[in-house]
Amino acid sequence: MAFEALSDKFSKIIKRLKGEHKLNESNMDSILKEIRMALLEADVNYKVVKDFINNIKTKALGEKVYDELNPSEMVVKIVQEELVKLLGTGKSEIVYQKNRPTVIMLVGLQGSGKTTSAAKLAYLMKNKLNKKVLLAACDTYRLAAIDQLKELANSIGVDLFELGNQKSPVEIAIEANEKAINGLYDVLIIDTAGRLSIDDLLMEELNQINLSFTIDERLIVVDALSGQEALNVTNAFNDKIPLTGVIMTKLDSDTRGGAALSIASTTGLGIKFSGVGEKISDLDIFYPDRMADRILGMGDILTFVDKVKENIDEKEAKKNVNKFVSGEFSLDDMLAQMKQIQKLGSMKSLLKFIPGMPKISDEQQDQLDKEMKNFEVIINSMTYEERLHPEILKNSRKVRIAKGSGKTNADINRVLKKYEQMKMMMKQMKGKKGGMFPPNFKGF
Ligand code: GDP
Repeated sequence: MAFEALSDKFSKIIKRLKGEHKLNESNMDSILKEIRMALLEADVNYKVVKDFINNIKTKALGEKVYDELNPSEMVVKIVQEELVKLLGTGKSEIVYQKNRPTVIMLVGLQGSGKTTSAAKLAYLMKNKLNKKVLLAACDTYRLAAIDQLKELANSIGVDLFELGNQKSPVEIAIEANEKAINGLYDVLIIDTAGRLSIDDLLMEELNQINLSFTIDERLIVVDALSGQEALNVTNAFNDKIPLTGVIMTKLDSDTRGGAALSIASTTGLGIKFSGVGEKISDLDIFYPDRMADRILGMGDILTFVDKVKENIDEKEAKKNVNKFVSGEFSLDDMLAQMKQIQKLGSMKSLLKFIPGMPKISDEQQDQLDKEMKNFEVIINSMTYEERLHPEILKNSRKVRIAKGSGKTNADINRVLKKYEQMKMMMKQMKGKKGGMFPPNFKGF
């Protein structure tokens, strides 16, 4: 995941800061040096780093952190504010038109993830924002790109406008816009052609599309893995067609994140969406403040809550709470609950959103996944009555279940212990309004 190394370094710096009772110019200087190194190692543009450090210095002086009794919080606050500024303070959300379709054109180099992002955006707008979306395939140079978009559009149930390569991209875009207006679509997303490098013909074509009717958002799709090159590409496109924002893809990869951290201040364009995986649902609205918190190891509880809302069936969760309250919460219900939590993503990817949560290693993650499977096999080897009333599980029954599931008595006891823990958690939730997690939820 992007920013992992940077986040580790920031966490260490903050920890060290907390150990300082008082800050003076010399220990502040060494902290700033560490921050500078961390950012440079994360491939952040050197000029951006220089300004960043200077801003912190000035602010720290202005806010008199040296006089403070607890200066570390003050410094963290300043660094957090500067990180948010770095990631782009401009409004990242799309403004939707009321009386006509909102038109979004995606541009970018081939391989940046443009076509995939067009479909991901359509999916996000349709499913999370309830918009009626039309996709338009204007990459007439690569028929494979049209087929790819067709397939993706089909898989998410979104309409696609395409004319193969019978007409020019400009004509296709104009006709798609007419269809979007007549069909009362909320959003039209235009996928344009990409090239391996920037060329004048491509720019002119994009320019023509842009001039032929009102296009509300011109978003460039850039690959976070391309590092500083992403900044040059964005500037080159922006020189020819005024862009309104960035979709940064592949932030799930092992990129150091420098491009994402430098793009707003070097191009003046904010990141509006970030691609975080290969699945169609792996596109997030980009919130600079949430990302800053995550980089500082402070978690991102808001994104966590969003993910819970998207993936957890609230009715199901409430049903479980009610079942417990009425004394009916069974092992089957526990399994269903655990599966819901698993649907959110692996525990490893979940924990990074929760402030103060320890990191878990790949081995620990494997262990958790294995435990989940064990639970399922064991619970499936029980009778209906046993699952409903686990208290009847005495030794002879446990031996039978252990044999049936190929597990040991100790494994079965572990399931029962988790069940008891979950019941305890449910008890704490009792009376709280439909909340899925109690305040001290620490996974399962
Ligand atoms: P285009 O040539 O710009 O249209 O690029 P594509 O949409 O065909 O994407 C190129 C490759 O990048 C495909 O294999 C995508 O699955 C992959 N890709 C796109 N976005 C992401 C992302 O956010 N994360 C990851 N891991 N892969 C992505």
